[in-house]
Amino acid sequence: MELTRRHALAGAAAIAASPLLLSMPAKAAAPMADKQAPSFYRYKVGDIQVTVVSDGKTVFPLTDSFITNAKLDEVNAALEKAFLPKDTFTIYYAPLVINTGGKLVVLDTGTGAAANVSSKGANGLFGANMVAAGFDPKAVDMVVISHFHGDHINGLLNADNTLAYPNAEVLVPATEWKFFMDDGEMSRAPEGRMQTVFKNARRVLEAGLKKKVTPYEWGKEVAPGLLAVESIGHTPGHTSYVLSSGSGKVFIQSDVTNIPYLFAANPGWHAFFDQDADMAEKSRRRVYDMMVADKLMVQGFHYPFPGLGNVEKDGGGYRVVPAPWNPVI
Ligand SMILES: [Zn+2]
Repeated sequence: MELTRRHALAGAAAIAASPLLLSMPAKAAAPMADKQAPSFYRYKVGDIQVTVVSDGKTVFPLTDSFITNAKLDEVNAALEKAFLPKDTFTIYYAPLVINTGGKLVVLDTGTGAAANVSSKGANGLFGANMVAAGFDPKAVDMVVISHFHGDHINGLLNADNTLAYPNAEVLVPATEWKFFMDDGEMSRAPEGRMQTVFKNARRVLEAGLKKKVTPYEWGKEVAPGLLAVESIGHTPGHTSYVLSSGSGKVFIQSDVTNIPYLFAANPGWHAFFDQDADMAEKSRRRVYDMMVADKLMVQGFHYPFPGLGNVEKDGGGYRVVPAPWNPVI
């Protein structure tokens, strides 16, 4: 039988009306599932094991102010090109658990337990998914933070404001710490979103962690095999990482871009959440040119899960090709 578009469209209706099916005895229907599997994905970088752990997603309607230098029509065209619904932005979150062999390291912590309640389970999943992946939060030696936005630090605290990783040293970028703990910077920050970012950083790090953090510098290993790299603009102390072991290497970009089909494809687009948009663009182009030149794999916090891929040049921008899911480690 020749399969045509007409057949494909008529298929479901034809099957529903099939006399064969109608004559079959009724069977008990299997119950429909209401949950996705706990989402985590493992891969190796040399002797180091990385587990990408989903923290879930947030979906929100797009407005004209989402990207300050592109029209909503252009953003919708980019979404359509990626086979995604128009007028809607889906942001994903994927912190990492890195087992270096000697240390268990959490890299960024997701939106946190309170967000799990307010989002009705759409995000704030990192804690539960991490346990499902076989990790005990009490066994975490170090929590490394890339920058102080809520989706990266809020998971440091449990819903009752106790420490989510009670035995871990918390490492933060020195430049980020200096900026967000500076009362002068806070007083000069514009009302609205920036004030909220300051207040939230202080709620978590000052009130919650009582400032018990270890600032780290760029150009140094923060954990075995994990080199901190400056990639500022998204925030003043925004940090990426090169994770390497033996001949294995991956660039952990943090928020150099958000979802790649908008921001790797259009590196010149300035999203409202980049604090210094010009600087963020400069970092974005530098990092992506470097990844292309060095054929470096990338791990993206806001990429669609599990967020590991390769980068190539594509016109005036870049294309991220997701790495195939490997069923063995
Ligand atoms: Zn983020």
